[in-house]
Amino acid sequence: MFEIEAWYLVVLPLLFAAGWWLRGFDSRVRAADQGAAPRSVFRGLNLLLNEQPDKAIDAFIEVVKLDPETIELHYALGNLFRRRGEVDRAVRIHTHLLNRADLPARERSNALAELGQDFLKGGLLDRAEDAFVRLIEDPQQRFSALRALLRIYQMEREWLKAIDCARRLEREAGESHHVAVAQFYCELAEQALAKSDLQRAQSYLDEALVADRKSVRATLLAGDVAMQRGERDDAIKHWLRVEAASPEHLPLVAARLTEAMDKAGRRDEALNLLRRALLDSPSIDLLEIAYQRIGEWEGPAAAEVLLRDELRRHPSLLGFEKLLALRSAQVKGDPELDLLRSLIHAQTRKLARYRCSKCGFRAREFHWQCPGCTSWDSYPPRRIEELDAA
Ligand SMILES: [Zn+2]
Repeated sequence: MFEIEAWYLVVLPLLFAAGWWLRGFDSRVRAADQGAAPRSVFRGLNLLLNEQPDKAIDAFIEVVKLDPETIELHYALGNLFRRRGEVDRAVRIHTHLLNRADLPARERSNALAELGQDFLKGGLLDRAEDAFVRLIEDPQQRFSALRALLRIYQMEREWLKAIDCARRLEREAGESHHVAVAQFYCELAEQALAKSDLQRAQSYLDEALVADRKSVRATLLAGDVAMQRGERDDAIKHWLRVEAASPEHLPLVAARLTEAMDKAGRRDEALNLLRRALLDSPSIDLLEIAYQRIGEWEGPAAAEVLLRDELRRHPSLLGFEKLLALRSAQVKGDPELDLLRSLIHAQTRKLARYRCSKCGFRAREFHWQCPGCTSWDSYPPRRIEELDAA
């Protein structure tokens, strides 16, 4: 039942206790405490061993009252509790340190920073934010406080505050956050777009492109803003720019782009674009869109030809599944075909996900920010089957 980290909980205080004994403190000054302090340490140890961590904390707090040099022991224990997910206990230890009247200013900042991390881990974002905002003024803690706040504001979707933190870190610590800053502006632009505040959306997108000239998402959204304004030709220009800047992102705009081109009387151009793009940078998502458009515009026979050609060039289970679906719509009630389809489907379900290039988190939908590791722009717009084949 004893977890590995639980051993640390015992070994750490033991080491501190040993150090405490070996230090050979001034017996004249501390004669009165000589018995009391170690007794508290060992009582704490005993309670930890008996899995009574709350009483153990009381015992260790007693030690710190008697010997301020055991502050390190508190940090070590607090961190261990936090890492074990026992946030309440970590908070108790760090709060106790913080409330000590004789704690030097530097240690007070350290304790507050630890407390902020406890709140962050426990999801108490408001309290974590309070702690780190107070730490910004401390030159020793400033950068790590700003980094923590940057994380918190992203979790709270407070994009303007996140931009402010990122900019300060860029200016003062020489860090690079331009990709994330562009994404923060894109988030703001999407919010404005949802409220049909097109002017505001456009100005956020301008900022996004200043931060990151190559921001695919900002270019894509600029097309959406133009479309909402009723400026279809402009929208088409923006979306075509997505392909020019990053052909692999074309599948993200191909559906709306080809629809707009069709409405503008440019259907042939749209079909050529899809066929050419499939040759230049093949993609299962793009195949899906091209298949749909060609089916609508040139009929099912032409769509099937496209699918077969594409499968021959770039064999994929996901493409094959589509072909089987087509066949089973034509030949109804073939049990073997249905069996084959369900077998293939069991395989393709896993292959059809997107995968974060930083942490490997898999998702059904394409994400600009990874839900697993919170990195930005870490999802290639490619299905796992294509990523693994590459
Ligand atoms: Zn990730």
